[in-house]
Amino acid sequence: MATKTLNPYTEARDILVEVGGEAFKSCYQCGTCSAVCPWNLVRDFSPRRLMHEAQLGLSSFDSEDTWLCVSCNACVQRCPRGVEIIDVMRSLRRTVAGLGIAPVPDSLRITAKNITGVGNPYGEPEDKRDEWASGLDVKSFTSGMEVLYFPGCVPSYDPDVKVVARTVAAILKRAGVDFGIIGNQEKCCGEAIRKAGFEDTFQSLAGHNIAAFRERGVKTIVVSSPHCYHTFKNEYPELGGEFEVLHITQYLASLIESGRLKLTREINKKVIYSDPCYLGRHNDVYNEPRRILESIPGVELLEFPENREYAICCGGGAGRIWMDTPREERFSDIRMEQAVEQGAEIIAVACPYCYLNYRDSMLSMDKSEVLQVKDIAELVAEAME
Ligand code: SF4
Ligand code: SF4
Repeated sequence: MATKTLNPYTEARDILVEVGGEAFKSCYQCGTCSAVCPWNLVRDFSPRRLMHEAQLGLSSFDSEDTWLCVSCNACVQRCPRGVEIIDVMRSLRRTVAGLGIAPVPDSLRITAKNITGVGNPYGEPEDKRDEWASGLDVKSFTSGMEVLYFPGCVPSYDPDVKVVARTVAAILKRAGVDFGIIGNQEKCCGEAIRKAGFEDTFQSLAGHNIAAFRERGVKTIVVSSPHCYHTFKNEYPELGGEFEVLHITQYLASLIESGRLKLTREINKKVIYSDPCYLGRHNDVYNEPRRILESIPGVELLEFPENREYAICCGGGAGRIWMDTPREERFSDIRMEQAVEQGAEIIAVACPYCYLNYRDSMLSMDKSEVLQVKDIAELVAEAME
């Protein structure tokens, strides 16, 4: 009896296509992606080569390269063939995570288990999710309220970032916004774990959150994380979740510009704004955060040498926030140096991953005497009368 011979090269290629990575087919190997990828500031990494390997069916699923992409979108924005490079990266990872053909980095595997099990990357109990709001008298969302505030995992659980959720809630109360939270019914939005390759986990989280929003009659969601923003706005609709989604910087800008929030206290500081990839490059939100900072009396707004669509990622996207990155390879360290060189006294952030990464860089680089890391909401709260 003749034995059926499988062609491993065709197989690897077919698997990638099957899980949504067929975009590599239109790559013509110009190398623009490798030239703009931030990894090449700190080490060699060639998305062009990964596209070529995928075309040839030679993808090495067990390479460290599989896990490097931070989904910053710099390459996709500049690719002359419109290759959805992030989709190919996601498919590579999905193949590894789904088929078990190579090891998943330990820290990512544990995080995925936590998110799948208890809906947050920290592995903290679900019933502690709303503890950030203790003592603030924040209401549970009910139908007819103006907005749902969805703080997301990091501001809900991280002891250093809870201040962001607490500050947003305090600002909304001061502005008289009729808002609520869904508290312990909230689960991770799933954006980053999807980019890390765990598609089934994403589908389950999205299904849960969409049902929770619908049950409560939610129409407008205000989020602190650009990652929640991106997935609610661009990925949940195809799963039946259609809501108006606003990042907190968009919402605060509208409250300030309509006169509901008044910023009168001076903050006499040089403030540099760091564009988060998922607010800027992925969703074209560049102006509202800057308009907020410019409306604070006394603030001198500075820019990084690379800003807006050229901004360097903090290094936290696509699950990298949960993976180990050697000190000398941290993009946020480069940004920290740049901020100090520009004369900034405060790095203003609009993303919880940026907050974590910059804070870590500030402490490890011993810069806390010269520069502070603050969420834009914190600066707004300080400037309120
Ligand atoms: S920029 Fe686009 S076409 Fe050029 S090598 Fe990268 S993926 Fe291929
Ligand atoms: S999305 Fe960013 S990190 Fe990923 S390959 Fe493209 S440029 Fe590099």
